[in-house]
Formats: sequence, C-alpha cells, structure tokens
Amino acid sequence: MNTVTALSTGAAPFQPESAPDYLPAAILRELQLGRLRSIVERAWSAVPLHRSRMKERGIEPGDLQSLEDIAALPFTTKADLRDTYPFGLFASPMRDIVRLHASSGTTGKPIVVAYTREDVDVWTSVMVRSFATCGLHAGDIVQNAYGYGLFTGGLGAHYGAEGLGATVIPISGGNTDRQIMVMKDFKVTAICCTPSYFLHLLDRAAQMEVNVAELPLRVGVFGAEPWTDSLRRHIEAAAGIKAYDIYGLTEITGPGVGIECVCQAGLHIFEDHFYPEIIDPDTGRLVAEGEEGELVLTTLSKQAMPMIRYRTRDITAFVPGSCPCGRTLRRIRRISRRSDDMFIIRGVNVFPSQVETALLAVEGMLPHYQIILTREAGLDQLEVQVEVTPPVASDRVAALESLHNKLAHALSQTLGLRVKVRLVAPQTLKRSEGKAQRVLDRRNA
Ligand SMILES: [Zn+2]
Repeated sequence: MNTVTALSTGAAPFQPESAPDYLPAAILRELQLGRLRSIVERAWSAVPLHRSRMKERGIEPGDLQSLEDIAALPFTTKADLRDTYPFGLFASPMRDIVRLHASSGTTGKPIVVAYTREDVDVWTSVMVRSFATCGLHAGDIVQNAYGYGLFTGGLGAHYGAEGLGATVIPISGGNTDRQIMVMKDFKVTAICCTPSYFLHLLDRAAQMEVNVAELPLRVGVFGAEPWTDSLRRHIEAAAGIKAYDIYGLTEITGPGVGIECVCQAGLHIFEDHFYPEIIDPDTGRLVAEGEEGELVLTTLSKQAMPMIRYRTRDITAFVPGSCPCGRTLRRIRRISRRSDDMFIIRGVNVFPSQVETALLAVEGMLPHYQIILTREAGLDQLEVQVEVTPPVASDRVAALESLHNKLAHALSQTLGLRVKVRLVAPQTLKRSEGKAQRVLDRRNA
C-alpha cells in the first residue's frame, strides 16, 4: 500500500522510527543490558549521589552481568531531585546541555531536568513512535494544547508530531474559544492535552453550538494526569473520537515513556530507552508478574541526567501476554492511581480516580467534580461537589434529590465511607487549562 492509499483508507503507513517496537525479545533484552551497563557506568563516574549510593550497597557498575542484577542497584526518588536542586544530578557539563525543563512541585522548589542534543533526539524519537502507535501519520493536523514552557508536555508533543511529518498547531493551553475556532476552521484531526482540559473544551464547544463529533477530529492523545477508563468511554462517545492514554514524567524524559496502541489494552513502554520494573512500594521487592505495584523506571540512554531505578509513585501492573498489534514492547495497565494523589479519610485510603469512576457510573451528570476535604469537630469530612447538566438543573426538585441520592450511594459503596454530595449549578466549578486539581484539602486551613 503506498502512502496515498494508506491515508485514504485511514490506515497509518508504517513509520520507520517504529522499527524498535517490533524487536524480537532476545535482541531487545541484549540491547537493554548493553545500554544499562553503560548508563550505570556514566551515573557512577559523573554523579556523586549515584556513586555514593552504589558504594553504600557495595556495588560497582562492573557487577551488572544480567538485567536481573538491576535489582541490586539503589532507588532514586523525587526527594533526591529536590535535595540536589538545581543541577546536582546532571551527568553532563553545561556546555553539552541544550535544554532545561522543570516540573512544579506541590511545595517549594521545582525539580529541574536536563537534555543533551542526543537526549532531545531520543525524546523526539519516542514521541514520534508514540504518535505512530496510536495511528497518527503525515497528513494529520495536530492541535497541541499542552502548555509550552518549562512543562515538558508542549515541546515534547511538538517535536514528536513534527518529527512524524504531521502538521502541528502550537496553540498551547488556554484561550478555549480560540481553540474551538481553530479546531473547526483548520480541520484538526488530532488533539493533545490533558483529559480534564478536553472535557472543558467539549463543554465550551457545546455552548458555542459546535458539535465536536461532527468535526474531522478523530484522535485525542491525553496525558499528564491520571484518568479512568470510564472517562475515556465518556470522551469517546461525546466527541466521536478515539482517546489514547500517553504516559511520561519529567524526571525520566517527559511524555513518550509509553502509550496505548490502537488495541487500547495497556500502554506499551518504549523499553529500548526506559527499563520498567514494578515493585511492592513497602518492601521495594519486585512483585510477581501481573501483580499491581509501583512503577520504577531506569533511563537506558539519557546522557545529561541518567535516572537509576526512579520510583515514579505511579501504581500499575504489567499486562501479561502479547499484544495483537504485534509490538514486542511490554505493556503496563493505564495508571489511574498515583500514590501521591491518595488521601486518607477516617483511616480509609481514597484515590480521586475511585470518585471519578463512581460518579461516571451514574447517569445524568457531567464529569466535572471537585473533592473537598474538611475537618469538623476533629473529624475528617469528604465532600464531593458535582456539576449537574443544564437539563437536570432545570428539573423538578424531586429529580435533583433522586440524583443526589444516587450519587451519594454510588460514592459510599465505592469508597466504603460516608460522603457528602453537593450538586452545583452548571459552569460553577473551576476549569483546568492544564492539570486538574481534583482535591482541595482544607483540613489544616
Ligand atoms: Zn499493542
């Protein structure tokens, strides 16, 4: 099939950059071991923190004889990035570094990451492969609504889409009315943004009487925040698109660590550059294949800032078996929980994703919600504010009461604790233009 035929039938032509996705497992493992040994050597010789940690454990780079030996290496954590702020984990001199990015922490200083020219090329290549994996190709018009700047989302997606040969619209986040105008007038076929921002776009489009489902838009590449499968189904039905989950984190490279293929059955990890492990977060030991645990990633090619066994705090599991798409890259389950997002209410662990799943199971509501934690008379309270849709808002009081009871019931059942539900008018909750802040913790206010 030539490219023109492929485009007219909607099938994506083979992207040469995707070749490593299909390496036979034995060759991939050999490639990983070679890269692991050289990156550990680099971390040892150039980064004092990595060297001293390895010495504490009595390990030297030469001890790595097989991929399994990685388990003897020490972990790296977000605290290590903060403690060595800003440049303490760099393995390259500044003259070799062509880019800095940073991610805002919840408190205090950001974490800073660096890229050599080669690192930017690798990042671009995994982003090209990411887009190719979910069926994008030259001829696609990509609206990149991730924020450009220190955040890795914007430039990561930009380089990837351009590298793929697609047409990039670098619109960045915000200015929602203009986003909708551009989507319609420029005949956009793919959009990249956070899932919460896309929901906001859909709402605003409806107000502007633009039916997104009737536009040429066919693919959404959503990431930078955890989201659930229920939300995916909602988005796909409302917008008439396929919605794919892309995964990455600034500490490792940015977006492009993994992505779903068209089978939507887990995210393929670009294992030739990122070595994944899943551990028990309490013991630090590997979990059995298929069991849930914390994802740990080692960068196999990053020059400016190699990360050895970085603890992502993201909870997932390997998907067993091979993928019908033919990629040999291992898959992880989509990440809907981040241990950083977890909060504890009256001794019960709660993740925002559980709230989202419970809410979406009840009909007659928009997936706009806000979780508010308060303390009354020394007791933690969980309130979920839910926006009702305009038709529901104009319903009789009895209908609202019935919806309220359904939501309260669904939440209490899912979370195993009593939840206060408050229905609020359409368009009253704050909309995110980037990462949604789902939880407002006012317990110590
Ligand atoms: Zn696949």
